[in-house]
Amino acid sequence: MLRVAVVGSGPSGVYTAQGLVQQDAAVLVDVLDRLPCPYGLVRYGVAPDHEKIKSLQGSLRTVLEHERVRFLGGVQVGGGGVPAARLRELYHAVVYCVGAATDRHLGIPGEDLPGSFSATAFVSWYSAHPDAAADGFVPGARSAVVIGVGNVAVDVTRILARGAAELSPTDMPQAALTALAASRVTDIHMVGRRGPSQARFTTKELRELGGLPDAEVIVDPRETALDPAWADPSGLPAAQRRNVEVLRDWAEHPVRGAARRIRPRFFLRPVEVLADGGRVGGVRFERTRPDGRGGVTGTGRFEEIGAQLVLRSVGYRGVPLEGLPFDAATGTVPHLAGRVVRGGVVAPGEYVAGWIKRGPTGVIGTNRPCAKETVASLLEDADVLARKEVPADPLAALRATGAEPVEWAGWRAIERAEAELGARLGRGGVVKLPDWESLLAAARTGA
Ligand code: NAP
Repeated sequence: MLRVAVVGSGPSGVYTAQGLVQQDAAVLVDVLDRLPCPYGLVRYGVAPDHEKIKSLQGSLRTVLEHERVRFLGGVQVGGGGVPAARLRELYHAVVYCVGAATDRHLGIPGEDLPGSFSATAFVSWYSAHPDAAADGFVPGARSAVVIGVGNVAVDVTRILARGAAELSPTDMPQAALTALAASRVTDIHMVGRRGPSQARFTTKELRELGGLPDAEVIVDPRETALDPAWADPSGLPAAQRRNVEVLRDWAEHPVRGAARRIRPRFFLRPVEVLADGGRVGGVRFERTRPDGRGGVTGTGRFEEIGAQLVLRSVGYRGVPLEGLPFDAATGTVPHLAGRVVRGGVVAPGEYVAGWIKRGPTGVIGTNRPCAKETVASLLEDADVLARKEVPADPLAALRATGAEPVEWAGWRAIERAEAELGARLGRGGVVKLPDWESLLAAARTGA
């Protein structure tokens, strides 16, 4: 049997495990995760009101319950946990599917003022990630600026624009629900540095903003008309054309006077997060114009948008992993068809899949072909990999490094505790446990 460790139990890790056990009956896979809970960004990134995408957990679960797959949560690889070199000794191969663990920075003054957060910090908070920052996002805020026009920007904008009645049936942790229910944010400016035809959000996600019960989308056609494709988007690729059509539709609608306003803004490049009394008071932007090559140039004209909450949603970024080569420019591990490349040479037994392999782009399904390529490389190498001596079962050796793995029964106990919490709170479904202590206490009841 070939013993493979997959590090990370998000979609790329689970699709990798699935490919391995489906294609070769002689493979045993341990899926390790730093957290006691599986599913990575499906659990801690997909917005709580996107129940349909969240339901993907059902198919990921089937893989983790496969007889030759074992989930080992609560196991940190590197960074003071199981040394990466030790993991390599315990398995014939290790596939790193660790995603892109941090956010990109803007590099502008005021970025770190109180009240300015990365969108990923806000997402982690309302998704109950146990390492998330405490509350403090919405209190005192009436206007929010979201910098960036990708799908994460749309997610955080939508969550800010939803009312308590819409959020209550989701699995959002109780503290986040309480804070958002008390939110006084009425205006959410979602700001792109380029034009509507270059925005990164997908049309389905964009369109959803127009269907929120107590919010309306206000688009200023004087601003969007700067986009050369605004008047006639027919020459654009389908995805961008549809985005422009949706925005044009909104620009033509009269203002209804809804309780909350979502304002997609364009051609504004952030230059400074402004302070007011030691906290965020707004964002200063330079107005840009198209440069004719898909980019923009500054115009030397500036504009300020007042805001007490700033969410920087300018993309994720991979972080270096102990013992692995890293390309700082792309935030990825250099690889050849999924095989880690070290000093120009393929490193035997080390593989990558998902965002740490190709960068933080694409939707969940993009991870399938990405994992498939890595699995094919690994299985091609199987004969060579199998020559290495490894322990019959690495679990005891993992424990000897200090790791205390949460196995599947522990995770199932967390699920039960979350269902019980939801019932107790009368929320109509599961409510997530938001901290390490309660997650590990629940997991112990299943051990
Ligand atoms: P993204 O799609 O890469 O969007 C990043 C945005 O930030 C872009 O608008 C980009 O503008 C802007 N930006 C980057 N640097 C900037 C700067 N210095 N100043 C101002 N703006 C800047 O990233 P994301 O929204 O984090 O999404 C990551 C991936 O997850 C995407 O593939 C996304 O589709 C996926 N995702 C999908 C869903 C879903 O399907 N529902 C939900 C969430 C995330 P430029 O284009 O000008 O660089």
